[in-house]
Amino acid sequence: MNELNYGWDQVRTRIHEACHRVGRDPQDLHVVAVTKYLDLEETKQVLDTGFVHVGESRVQDAVPKWKNLGNRGIWHFIGHLQRNKVKDVIGRFQYLHSLDRFSLAEEVNKRALQKEINVRCFLQVNVSGEESKYGISPNQLDEFAKEVANLSQIEVVGLMTMAPKLERTEEVRPVFRELKRLQQRLQKLDNPRLQVPHLSMGMSQDFDIAIEEGATWIRLGSILVGGYKRGGNL
Ligand SMILES: *Cc1c(COP(=O)(O)O)cnc(C)c1O
Repeated sequence: MNELNYGWDQVRTRIHEACHRVGRDPQDLHVVAVTKYLDLEETKQVLDTGFVHVGESRVQDAVPKWKNLGNRGIWHFIGHLQRNKVKDVIGRFQYLHSLDRFSLAEEVNKRALQKEINVRCFLQVNVSGEESKYGISPNQLDEFAKEVANLSQIEVVGLMTMAPKLERTEEVRPVFRELKRLQQRLQKLDNPRLQVPHLSMGMSQDFDIAIEEGATWIRLGSILVGGYKRGGNL
């Protein structure tokens, strides 16, 4: 899969450069290869290339892939999740990046209890306040986080946000900076279950800036899979 390798070479260089600019260790940065644009065979190739973390955003697309490849990677659910689909995700996806409401958290916890597993979750925050975006609003985050922290099977590993798509990418920087600030605010609550060490932020168009602002997980789709992208803006 030459295109994938080519894409990754360039991305890796940019990751290192971004880390270097702000004195961060590239080892602290993790990449989720977003495979939602890809079919089963292409997703397999992504794993063959050496990516460990794969991200999917739609249950109906993801489950058939997981049934074939689930024993190979670590699976991240990154899209909006309906409550009635939680049962399909828990036990398959080790990470949920889009925990954005308490009713969802309760369902995740219930299903995880049945399976006697923990689920690593990011709390999704709608920093930019766009109506089209999911996520808890920043001023409700602390309350939400405290409630989620009471659910035994949920391990709150961090915060996640999606920046708006802007012509001038630099303008998304305040969104990432704000997520970092919210992380620090949560950490000051001094709740051992809310250490939230991770920030899941940055996609193909803006990952350099996200890294400069403290991302520890970036979610990359189109920039990696380039020509394989099947047009969908899922
Ligand atoms: C699709 C998607 C991505 C990857 O987007 P690209 O712009 O293709 O890199 C990242 N995060 C979420 C939540 C997504 O839905």
